[in-house]
Amino acid sequence: MSNIPVNCFLLRYNEIGTKGKNRWQFEQKLLNNISRQLTNRNEFNYYRDQGRFALKKRDNSFFSPKEIQIATEALNRTFGLESYAPGIMTDPDSDTILELIEKHFPSAYELGKNQLLPQQDYTCRVRCRRSWKKFPYTSKEMEINIADKILPSYDDLKVNLKKAHLTIGVEIRPDIAFIHFQDYKGLGGLPVGSSDPVLCLLSGGIDSPVAAFKAMQRGSHVNSVTFESFPYTQPELIDKVAKLQNILDRYQDRPAQFYACNMAESQKMIRDKCSERFRTILYRRIMMRVSSVLAVHLKAKALLTGEAVGQVASQTLANMDTINRSTDTLVLRPLVCMDKNEVIAIAEKAGTFDVSNIQCADSCTTFAPGKPATNGNPRLLEEQETRYEASDAIIDCLKNTRLIDTHSLEETPVPELIEIYEQNFKRQWFGND
Ligand code: ATP
Ligand code: MG
Repeated sequence: MSNIPVNCFLLRYNEIGTKGKNRWQFEQKLLNNISRQLTNRNEFNYYRDQGRFALKKRDNSFFSPKEIQIATEALNRTFGLESYAPGIMTDPDSDTILELIEKHFPSAYELGKNQLLPQQDYTCRVRCRRSWKKFPYTSKEMEINIADKILPSYDDLKVNLKKAHLTIGVEIRPDIAFIHFQDYKGLGGLPVGSSDPVLCLLSGGIDSPVAAFKAMQRGSHVNSVTFESFPYTQPELIDKVAKLQNILDRYQDRPAQFYACNMAESQKMIRDKCSERFRTILYRRIMMRVSSVLAVHLKAKALLTGEAVGQVASQTLANMDTINRSTDTLVLRPLVCMDKNEVIAIAEKAGTFDVSNIQCADSCTTFAPGKPATNGNPRLLEEQETRYEASDAIIDCLKNTRLIDTHSLEETPVPELIEIYEQNFKRQWFGND
């Protein structure tokens, strides 16, 4: 950022504006979520008046460089924010506004100039909004006053009202005026906690953390479960996925509940009794079912996966269909039609990519078939499931599901899961025997 002083950040949202009667709840959630990210949050509060929000110091003073950093980090991690502008709050007085603009414009000019591409025209515009009708000038007149005062000293600046490198923004309200020169994009979407919560099947791969990030962008709080196969997978796997969860939690209104399920015993049953080529699909059906039980426990309204059509053998449409039929629980697949490159770009933006890239085998590779089936139809798979004690396998997985502290890796068992399974799912999935 520049050396222009900042005593507020103007906040803009987009989508939550469409929510009609619930609007104030969305707004409150957005502001709470920003506050949660601010260290020493007691120093800050909000200007809030008729759809205009600004983050400011409680005592209205200017932000220190450290406070600017704290504020921008918080704003960059809060879903629901469309854009924000560091600005100066001042009295709604035309001379004061003009003086401040004249004083700080040179810094804004230099900053914009450094970002120009070679041979590009340097464009500028003035945007004024006046919600205080008693202010002596109209918005248009004020724009002209500002342009007349500033632009004659800068030969290389070309006015472009539609799109400009540099916008001088002024907003005049009865109690206050805001001046700003820079605009930053936020993460968009909805504030986390404004939609129903979901449960992510979080592997150590690139995709599922991105799925979690996208669901948060739609306002869902995301809890997760990871499947491991110790002693066939390494203990480091849980550490790796917990690290991913910690990164994702930076974007949430509160930390996730993070579960790990050891499915090694069921995988051995499948290895010993079922056709090799269906192993992966059978594992995945177990994962969906265990996750469905956990979702009831967590009151999550949907499961979330990082599946994308055609990416690996288990993600042919036929196999996705067969995996999907293992449960009635709604499954969200935000990456389903994305390119890997798009997914990687989001993983980089979210900050999960480097951890995902650390090599560490996961449950899917335990006893993985050399030639996995790509056309597993539901009837074939149901038949495979009669060859081993599929219900016992689910119970074994549930017994081996633990709530994990993502920092200490301390484990707590979840004995309630067996009852949830027996009451809600057992008969539906495996009949009365
Ligand atoms: P990812 O990069 O997320 O691992 P992938 O392209 O490797 O995805 P798969 O491994 O087949 O694809 O898995 C598809 C989805 O199934 C994952 O995105 C994840 O949601 C879920 N999944 C797979 N393995 C696990 C696991 N061990 N624990 C939790 N979820 C898993
Ligand atoms: Mg994977």
